[in-house]
Amino acid sequence: MKNLIVGCGISGAALARLLAESGETVTVIDSKNHIAGNIYDYYQDGICVHKYGTHIFHTNNKTVWDFVGRFCQWYPYQHQVRGLVDGQLIPIPFNLNSLYMVFPNELAIRIEKKLLDNFGFNVKVPILELRKKDDKDLQFLAQYIYEKIFLEYTLKQWGQKPDEIDPSVSGRVPVYIARDNRYFQDKYQGIPIGGYTQMVKKMLAHENITVKLNTGFKPSMKYDRLFWSGSIDEFFNYEYGELPYRSERFEFITFPYKKFQDVAVVNYPCNYDWTRIGEYKHFLRDESEKTIVSYEYPEPFEIGKNERYYPIANDKNAELYQKYLKLAANKPNVFFFGRLGDYKYYDMDKAIARCFEIMKNLGEK
Ligand code: UDP
Repeated sequence: MKNLIVGCGISGAALARLLAESGETVTVIDSKNHIAGNIYDYYQDGICVHKYGTHIFHTNNKTVWDFVGRFCQWYPYQHQVRGLVDGQLIPIPFNLNSLYMVFPNELAIRIEKKLLDNFGFNVKVPILELRKKDDKDLQFLAQYIYEKIFLEYTLKQWGQKPDEIDPSVSGRVPVYIARDNRYFQDKYQGIPIGGYTQMVKKMLAHENITVKLNTGFKPSMKYDRLFWSGSIDEFFNYEYGELPYRSERFEFITFPYKKFQDVAVVNYPCNYDWTRIGEYKHFLRDESEKTIVSYEYPEPFEIGKNERYYPIANDKNAELYQKYLKLAANKPNVFFFGRLGDYKYYDMDKAIARCFEIMKNLGEK
């Protein structure tokens, strides 16, 4: 069976490995000049820099964690984010520690009690849910968090307000009624020692896998089965129009001193035009006299100008995607997967879990 995988990002590489281990031979092509797609990283001044922005692996899925762990050693990094709010760097997601940093003690004590009475301890509440509470103090808190943390960040990130985009998006960063300053609470979190590119390289190092870079897909290519991790609209020549995406522009700066900020990521939900600044040496505790940071500027995706980063979840786009899915149903030997192929805001672990699912369903299509 001639298997062709289009796209050598985390999805393409994971699926290639799974197919190879099932005894199939597989060719992976990518139009980029490097493997690993948007998790590509490289070393500069002794620092592992993520070319397409900070990536942190986190999952509760042991199968996925163990699978990736076969191709790297994990550094047990636990991600923390701070946000510049009212001149202070407060924990994001907003939690009880953030609460006490931004409000006078008396008010914070009152609000904390209300939160505990209404929701309990160690509970995550999406901001759009918190806004529905009719208690005066909770209303005040919700409005504060909405305005100071979500509104401008989301306008910068998506060009829309938090209540105009799918609730699942702002729900990724819920208000957390806890003292836990971590960004994720998943059981497994880490960064591959040596970087993601090395991890993907090992994943692809199998006698049944051939990788061809600088190679775009052409309809003349021969295959028995095609696995497409590119955007599904592109496969169908944009027959119904383009599926919209958000993109990012990264401005990388090397500073001649050791540290720029205390944590790997600082969000700027109220000020400036960038959404966040990532400082890369934090991830693997790289030792260097210098430091490298990236300023992140979201922008609309435009074909030929920038890369696709985020599918935009809303009803209109879901409808358009469904039309492409219908076309896909007529192509029994073509499989769509990955963030772009499925038009879903997958985290890395979900992208890999999807490859396991594809393997399971292979015989059924
Ligand atoms: N968000 C926000 N302010 C923040 C952090 C997140 O408004 O300080 C919102 C914003 O809409 C963002 C979404 O929550 O796009 C999801 O954030 P996440 O950090 O998960 O985004 P990613 O790391 O995938 O870009």
